[in-house]
Amino acid sequence: MRRLIDGVAHRLIEFIAALPDQPAADAGGGDAVRALLDEPPPEEGTPPARALDLLFSKVVPCSLETAGPGYLAYIPGGGLFTAALGEFAAAIVNRYVGVFAAAPGAAELEAQVIRWMAELLGMSPSAFGVLTTGGSMSTLMAVIAAREKILGDDTNRGTVYVSTEVHHVVTRAARIAGIAARQIRIVPADAAGRLKTEALRDIIAADRTMGFKPFFVCGSAGTVNSGAVDPLHEIADIAREGGLWFHVDGAYGAMFRLVPELAPVLAGMERCDSLAADPHKGLFLAYGTGLLLVRDQADLRRAFEGGAAYLPPMQEDGRRVDFCELSPELSRDWRGLRLWLPFKLHGVAAFRAALAEKRELAVLAHERLAAEPDVEIPAPPALSLFAFRQVPKGLDPARADDHNRDLLGRINAPRRILITGTEIDGDFYLRFCVLHLRTHRERVEEGLAIIARELERGRRPS
Ligand SMILES: *Cc1c(COP(=O)(O)O)cnc(C)c1O
Repeated sequence: MRRLIDGVAHRLIEFIAALPDQPAADAGGGDAVRALLDEPPPEEGTPPARALDLLFSKVVPCSLETAGPGYLAYIPGGGLFTAALGEFAAAIVNRYVGVFAAAPGAAELEAQVIRWMAELLGMSPSAFGVLTTGGSMSTLMAVIAAREKILGDDTNRGTVYVSTEVHHVVTRAARIAGIAARQIRIVPADAAGRLKTEALRDIIAADRTMGFKPFFVCGSAGTVNSGAVDPLHEIADIAREGGLWFHVDGAYGAMFRLVPELAPVLAGMERCDSLAADPHKGLFLAYGTGLLLVRDQADLRRAFEGGAAYLPPMQEDGRRVDFCELSPELSRDWRGLRLWLPFKLHGVAAFRAALAEKRELAVLAHERLAAEPDVEIPAPPALSLFAFRQVPKGLDPARADDHNRDLLGRINAPRRILITGTEIDGDFYLRFCVLHLRTHRERVEEGLAIIARELERGRRPS
């Protein structure tokens, strides 16, 4: 065991040490990897060194460098080492946290982590929740909990409200939860990407007169297009007046609540019925850990409880949690340890500082780009993400999208940073998103120098 662990540890430490020099993206070789992996199921074992060679020299490198400092694309996260150790330890001790009676110690640790998160995110002391696999699952569970609470079995006239800027997993969750497309309303957003609350009121009122039953509204605490934070207090008011469930999609942005100066930006988030946050983004964990918090635990229980004769009895004492009664999962990994261990080892202060750093880097990047004469930015970063595009003087507006797609390609070509694009109001934009564990000032400066050079090139007639 020690030899195997040492062998893996050696490769992993080499991997981490080499990250600053790795290409920001090298995802083109999928077919070659398939050919290398194509073999019958291996009846006999392989020497560890050979298996690890294949893994680390061929399979792992064929990828966007999602563990490296140049990853400014989509929504970055990281791959925090101490969280990975927690995950490793959890897999070895293999505790069963689905049912309290099977591992009270592990279940209590996970419950404590969830209470910590509720407190750190400003939720009321009674709030509780579940660690999920990610924002998609958290959102699906939230829609189902809302449906069960407000609509019961009578789902045909229930309507859902999201903005044009909402992440597609929210509308997808509604569809999976049995809400038909004709029951989903897309509310317009303002120029900064924030849901228009007057329009929301009007659409809800119109639906009521037509006999629909409005039951679910989603506000975004950080949209994926431009990083906008919806007017959460106003949405909370509308939800409260109308008896709707108020869900906040904080998969990208909620963790910035840990930075005291940013708490006002997210004000109102704490009034939600449910909040989806993603430790695998904003707390820098490896992919696979999401968080759903609800104001009232009973809302999850109503939707997901259910015991069976072949299971240990479920707990009567409300302080003891059978996680299988709060989510659709029964057997699953012990997710709590991968958050508990880093919190204990580094302290929450380290996370606050890291999030504040990402925010400052995004502000810096925005300042630089806003100073360019022909760069358009719909809104400065509310948190750590903003969109931008170049419209050089004299460019035919019909060519603006092509110009910016080309700009994106040239910025990414040296493979020192990777940024991605999106569409806002039908126009193509580039996005700059700082949330990676390993992204520090040096790499942001290097990326900005590349961008400045390519903007300059974009001004020359081609
Ligand atoms: C990433 C993201 C999601 C989806 O979450 P997953 O963890 O990828 O399932 C939803 N909403 C927003 C705003 C996101 O950034």
